Amino acid sequence: MPDVLVLVDHDGERVHKSTYELLAAARRLGDPAAVVVGTPGTAARLKESLARHGATSVYVAESDEAGEFLATPAVDVLELAVRDACPAAVLVSATTDGREVAGRLAVRLDAGLLIDAVDLDSSGVVTQIVFGGAYTVRSEVTHGTPVIALRPGAVEPEEHPVAAMVRELVVPSVDPATSARITDRRASPAGDRPALTEAAVVVSGGRGVGGAEGFTVVEELADALGGAVGASRAAVDAGYYPHRFQVGQTGKTVSPQLYIALGISGAIQHLAGMQTSRTIVAVNKDAEAPVFGLADYGVVGDLFAVAPQLTEEVTARRA
Ligand code: FAD
Repeated sequence: MPDVLVLVDHDGERVHKSTYELLAAARRLGDPAAVVVGTPGTAARLKESLARHGATSVYVAESDEAGEFLATPAVDVLELAVRDACPAAVLVSATTDGREVAGRLAVRLDAGLLIDAVDLDSSGVVTQIVFGGAYTVRSEVTHGTPVIALRPGAVEPEEHPVAAMVRELVVPSVDPATSARITDRRASPAGDRPALTEAAVVVSGGRGVGGAEGFTVVEELADALGGAVGASRAAVDAGYYPHRFQVGQTGKTVSPQLYIALGISGAIQHLAGMQTSRTIVAVNKDAEAPVFGLADYGVVGDLFAVAPQLTEEVTARRA
């Protein structure tokens, strides 16, 4: 079976869930080979969980510089690994960083790139969201090693324990003149809530929330469900909630088990970031709001009446 390279998304200590999803998807095409790019010692911490999720090999590319630059080390290492392993495909998560890596890598390899994939089959045909979510298409790379950016949450992660073979790769030294250096890292003050792109439940508020203080209702429901909070761009632009929580074409892409939209009309640019969610619930006082065209469950009503009742009911059932 050919290798399928999977770029490992991690924070130095822990593998992000999106990587387990990539490993599950990679197994449809060949033997998943995880590529860990990080500072010395990273792979030793991550190897066991990667092997538990099916990585038959772990490419280790470690250097002090690898943690200092954005995108470039990962692109350099993946290029080396592709030339070494001639894989069936390269999979990365369609996060902000992942998209950057995928785009640059495809150019380096002169290969086809499929972004915003939500599924792929064993023949390499990819289901892909295009034009900001207006269409779902099935695509196949016909030139070079396919580079595929898979949306987080689109594929179920699976445990599949194997014995992983470790292979060392050298991280080429980075040219600082053509690379972006990371000068500072600050923990995001998200509190105890799960990360937006990894959460199983996302509760988002839109302009209908009416103000920053209105987001308390959104947060309370998210907390009752153990979920993350999201926001529409209109809510972000109005200063109700910080930009890092924006969901949509120019924000984060989420694909949780449950997405609850409170006071969001359902513009196509918002739907682009959440339409692959497993179950979508919308609360809007306008029965004609476009969001109801996508929602699995819709409540026509005032979010300030509906959301607190939901929170109360969920809290009571969990007690
Ligand atoms: P509105 O469209 O104003 O809808 C508010 C809704 O709240 C209405 O449907 C109203 O009926 C309802 N409502 C009001 N009060 C209540 C209440 N008390 N209870 C229940 N319902 C109530 N948008 C994004 O979200 N993410 C993006 O990434 C994004 N990127 C964009 C990129 C481009 C290039 C462009 C042009 C636009 C982008 N947009 C994005 C903006 C998008 O087009 C919409 O303007 C935006 O999504 C609207 O946000 P909204 O639904 O919160 O606000």
